Amino acid sequence: MKRRAIVAANWKMNGGLELVNTMTTGLNSLELAENVDVIICPSFPYLAAWNIAAQAQQLNSKIYLGAQNVCQHAQGAFTGEVSVDMLNEVSVNFVIIGHSERRSIYKETDQQVADKVKATLDAGLTPILCIGESEAERMAEQTDKVLAQQLQPVIDVIGIERFADIVIAYEPIWAIGTGKTASAQMAQQTHQFIRQFIANVDINVANKVPLLYGGSVNAKNSEELFAQTDIDGGLIGGASLKVDEFITICSAAKGS
Ligand code: PEP
Repeated sequence: MKRRAIVAANWKMNGGLELVNTMTTGLNSLELAENVDVIICPSFPYLAAWNIAAQAQQLNSKIYLGAQNVCQHAQGAFTGEVSVDMLNEVSVNFVIIGHSERRSIYKETDQQVADKVKATLDAGLTPILCIGESEAERMAEQTDKVLAQQLQPVIDVIGIERFADIVIAYEPIWAIGTGKTASAQMAQQTHQFIRQFIANVDINVANKVPLLYGGSVNAKNSEELFAQTDIDGGLIGGASLKVDEFITICSAAKGS
């Protein structure tokens, strides 16, 4: 089954105008393999600036803009929040939803995550749904159960057919920002579980949905990780702040 590969950059609360300029300049010379897309997710204040810089550089149309979060509500008295319509207006195509930092620091629940996924899809944007287990859960052999518990509420809210229109990022919490990467074999095994979990409900959807790996991906380990059957690219944190390293990671994605 042919699936596109995706390399997504999650800048978190890092970077600024300088990175917008150096990254758009750097990406200008990137030759992407066929069937590979790149998504850059800067902080909200830089979304519009990215568009201006990307236009000035005439960036490849396979380099998309993403946001790191969105509100599940359409509008109203939600101070500090950003709606799907606002993201649409600044040409955002993807939205990271349910990142473990949002789940743990801001106490986002599975239900809120599912509602955000629905609001994003309803607005015609593509959610990048993040799921992943803690180190204690991995040690207690609870990984599959935890991932199933994170996926099921989203299936319940949007229905399995719409999973064909989302991207899933598997990010073991113990590997995020720690320099500890899951081995390619461990990541593949977990991705296989995720795909099988979806296949148990709808095999066609399971074959279509891109599954990204995230957690200390870098220029050295990306090629081996991306070569795994069920790994369709990566969600990159720290290494996406370094232009040369990020470009090397993008070049490691081949698509299937
Ligand atoms: C992330 O936060 O999504 C992430 C994968 O971070 P890092 O690559 O720094 O581990």
